[in-house]
Amino acid sequence: MNSYWIESTEVDVNFFTLAENLSCDVCIIGAGLFGLTTAYYLSKKGLNVIVLDKSEIGEKVSGHTTAKITSQHGIIYNYLIQSFGTDIAKKYLFANEEAIKNIKEIVSTENINCDLINQSNYVYTTNNDEIDILKKEVQAVKSLGFNCQFVEKTSLPFEVCGAIMFPNQSSFHPRKYMIGLCNCILNNSGQIFTNTLVYDVKKEDNYYKTITSNHCIKSKYVVLATHYPFINFPGFYFTKMYQETSYIIGIDTKEDFLDGMYITAQAPTYSFRAVKDGNKNILLIGGGNHKTGADNISYNSTYALLEKKAKELYPNCELLYKWNTRDCITLDKVPYIGEFSSLLPNMYVGTGFNKWGMTSSNVAANIVTDNILGIKNKYEKAFTSTRLKPIKNIGEVKNMLKQTASSLVVKKIKIPDSNIQDLKNGDGKIIEIDGNKIGIYKDSSGNMHAVKPTCTHLGCTLSWNNIDKTWDCPCHGSRFDYNGINIYDPAIKNLEIYNL
Ligand SMILES: Cc1cc2nc3c(=O)[nH]c(=O)nc-3n(C[C@H](O)[C@H](O)[C@H](O)COP(=O)(O)OP(=O)(O)OC[C@H]3O[C@@H](n4cnc5c(N)ncnc54)[C@H](O)[C@@H]3O)c2cc1C
Repeated sequence: MNSYWIESTEVDVNFFTLAENLSCDVCIIGAGLFGLTTAYYLSKKGLNVIVLDKSEIGEKVSGHTTAKITSQHGIIYNYLIQSFGTDIAKKYLFANEEAIKNIKEIVSTENINCDLINQSNYVYTTNNDEIDILKKEVQAVKSLGFNCQFVEKTSLPFEVCGAIMFPNQSSFHPRKYMIGLCNCILNNSGQIFTNTLVYDVKKEDNYYKTITSNHCIKSKYVVLATHYPFINFPGFYFTKMYQETSYIIGIDTKEDFLDGMYITAQAPTYSFRAVKDGNKNILLIGGGNHKTGADNISYNSTYALLEKKAKELYPNCELLYKWNTRDCITLDKVPYIGEFSSLLPNMYVGTGFNKWGMTSSNVAANIVTDNILGIKNKYEKAFTSTRLKPIKNIGEVKNMLKQTASSLVVKKIKIPDSNIQDLKNGDGKIIEIDGNKIGIYKDSSGNMHAVKPTCTHLGCTLSWNNIDKTWDCPCHGSRFDYNGINIYDPAIKNLEIYNL
C-alpha cells in the first residue's frame, strides 16, 4: 500500500532525464515542495531555472506527508519566546502565516486543482496534566499578536480535556499541487529533469558546476533542495540535524467527514486529518514516531498502534493505505534557510522543516528567492542557516574523513551456518566474520542478501528495519534497500554488496 497522494495523482506532464550539458541562472537540486516552490517564484521573476531530481516528482517526503498547511507547529511559541525572544518568535509565526496566504494565492492565480480547503488546526490533549502547557502556549501566541483560542470541544470522535485552535489554516493534495507548480515552471520557460542524480557541486571561478552521472549544469546560483543536504562540507548540517520517521494509515471511516486537523500536544503523537475522495471520507491517522534507524522498531509499535486507534474510533472502518516517511529535525526546532555556508556564496539551502514543511518550504522558497534577487527578506533572521551551534557527533566527522568513496563493489564471502541458523525468512541482522560486519537479509524464499552495513554518507553502522526490509542509518537517516541500493538521503551512494 503506497501513499494516498501518489496513488491518487494523474501526472499529465512528461519529464525527461538530463541528456546534455546546460547553463542557467539558478540550478535547483531537488523537486520536492521546497525546490519546486523556489523554481516557481524565480521563474516567475524571469530567471532561467533548471530543476534536477533523482526520482519522479513528489515521490519522496513531500509525496508522503499529511499536508496540513498550518503555522501551528505543535507547542512551539512559548519555547521560541523563551529560547530566542519575542522578535524571532513573531517572525517565525508570521512567516508561516504568510506562507499559508502565499499557497492559497498560488493555487488561485495559477488555477491549480489540488483540493485546497480552509480548515482550523488544533493541538489537543486528553490529559488534564497538560492543560497548563496549552494555556501557556495560548498566552504566548496571543502575546505575539495572533488570535488563537483555547477550546474544550472539537469535532474529534472522543472527548478532549482541551485544545488550541488556530483559525484559517488549510489542507491540500500535495502531489497535485506539486504537479501544478511543475506546469507553471515549464510555462515560465524553466526546465525540470527527473531521474537525474546529482553527485557533486563544484565551485569554479564565479559559477557552480552541478555534476550528474554524465552531464553538468553551469549556473551562477545553486539551491540545495534535497531535503537533507547531500554535500557535507562546509555546511556541517550533519552535526545539527537528525531524521525522524512517522507512520500514516488512511482509512475509509464510513462516517462523516472529520472537520479540522488535529495533533496531540505531547507524545505519544496522534495526528488526524481527513481527505474527501469521491464519496469516501478518508481519514489519515499519523503517529508511531521514532528516530530513523532506531533499533527494535516493530509493526506493533508503529502501524499496529494506528490500526488499533482506527478500529477503536471507527469500528466499521476499512484500511486503505499505509506508508511511512521521515523528516529532518533540527536541534533547536527551527529550520535552516538561507546561505548553505558563508564560504560558498550564491549556494542556498532550505532544510530541517521538523515535520512542518508545507509552510516552511514556502517560507524557505521566499527567503531564497529574495536572497537571489538581492531583496532583504523580513523573516530571514529567524531562520539563518549559518547560525552557530556546537559541532555534535564529532565521531561522525572522523568517520567521514576516514571514509573512502564506495560504490557498488562486489566481494565474495562465505558465511558459516552457525552465524545465521537462527535467522528466520523475512528477517535481517548484522553478523561479524573475521572482524568485518556483514548485513544479512534472508528473503521470504530463504535467499540471502549481504551488504556492508556502513552508511555511505558518514560511515555510521546501519540498523536493520524489519518493517520495510531496509538498512537505515541511526545517525542521519539515510536508507538503503536490502540489496544495498540507496533510497533516501543524505547518502547518495549504494552500499558495498557481498556475493555469497
Ligand atoms: C509523516 C510526516 C507527516 C508530515 N506531515 C506534515 C504536515 O501535515 N504538514 C507539514 O507542514 N509538514 C508535514 N511534514 C513535513 C513535510 O512533509 C516535509 O518537511 C516536506 O515535504 C519536505 O520537503 P522537501 O522539498 O524538503 O523534501 P522532499 O519532498 O523529500 O524533496 C527533496 C527532493 O530532492 C531529491 N533529491 C535528494 N537528493 C538528490 C540528489 N543527490 N540529486 C537529485 N535529487 C535529489 C529527492 O528525490 C526529492 O524529490 C510531514 C513529515 C512527515 C515525515
